[in-house]
Amino acid sequence: MIGAHTGIGSMGLVRLADEHLKQKYLPDIASGEKIACFALSEPGAGSDATNLSTTAEKHGDHWVLNGTKHFITNAPFADVFTVFALTDREKGAKGGITAFLVERNFPGIHVGKPDKKMGLRGSKTAQVVFENCEVPAENVIGEVGMGYVSALTILGEGRVCLGARSIGSCDKLIELSTEYALERKQFGKPIGDQQAVQFMLADMKTETEAARALTYRGAWMLDQGEKAIQECAMAKLYATDVYNRVADKAVQIHGGWGTWPNTLQNAITGMPALRKSMKGPMKFNASSSPNKCSNSRQRS
Ligand SMILES: Cc1cc2nc3c(=O)[nH]c(=O)nc-3n(C[C@H](O)[C@H](O)[C@H](O)COP(=O)(O)OP(=O)(O)OC[C@H]3O[C@@H](n4cnc5c(N)ncnc54)[C@H](O)[C@@H]3O)c2cc1C
Repeated sequence: MIGAHTGIGSMGLVRLADEHLKQKYLPDIASGEKIACFALSEPGAGSDATNLSTTAEKHGDHWVLNGTKHFITNAPFADVFTVFALTDREKGAKGGITAFLVERNFPGIHVGKPDKKMGLRGSKTAQVVFENCEVPAENVIGEVGMGYVSALTILGEGRVCLGARSIGSCDKLIELSTEYALERKQFGKPIGDQQAVQFMLADMKTETEAARALTYRGAWMLDQGEKAIQECAMAKLYATDVYNRVADKAVQIHGGWGTWPNTLQNAITGMPALRKSMKGPMKFNASSSPNKCSNSRQRS
């Protein structure tokens, strides 16, 4: 929730919006008075976010949005939505997609019930439908037509959060697995005395520290004001893979209890595989760059 709010939900405003939009919305977003989200994905536009169906037509001093977004993190309770819509069908991703700041209370926006997922239940997603939703022209984020580049930039940098979240889960799994290895006795001694178990713990810790270093590097570069899309993609790629491997080993170390509810549930319900789909499936992440938006197959 926090990651989507402070990351992809508000980064469009922070990085790309005019000063008046920043002044109007960012103080409440920063204080948590208002919760933000990012609405790009659609039923027909997942990996290929150039294939948007949501449209925005200019009518005088406002735009009218129509279309459906889905899988939108924070949508069930968000106050402000960064929404991407087609403003020029002919141009498509090459100058025909625009980002808008849409308030929940604008007429014509309908948010569905929270989705029921296998895991990640603390992270609420929902469908969002726009039916002749009127958005003031001043609520365009960045330049009209440059929304696809904005989306790639926001998603690209936001991926470092998924690295951080995966590392947090790995830390907890290592802690629980180490405690269990020390207390569980088989063949007359703790299973942690067995080298096979020690090897698993050593691999879990080593890979987690490597993922942490990659993630810190991406975050540090962003803090310095540098471009870090590649570094953030590498952090997500590696850390989510490590999370899969650490979760697998944690279940092995816990034996039969590893499959029981509550044993590792809180550390694993983040569903390692699900994290890989967030902010674009992994196959697309490492190659994503705003400079490549001319390739319609490459999504964030
Ligand atoms: C928990 C969660 C939270 C999310 N939150 C948000 C959010 O806040 N805002 C938002 O806009 N979106 C959000 N999403 C959506 C997410 O960005 C999409 O799920 C993601 O982009 C993948 O799209 P898709 O699910 O339609 O899969 P698809 O694009 O249908 O992909 C399915 C599979 O096909 C593969 N594939 C597709 N095309 C190709 C190709 N050309 N070559 C090789 N393989 C290919 C993919 O890698 C994947 O393995 C969220 C998703 C999840 C799961």
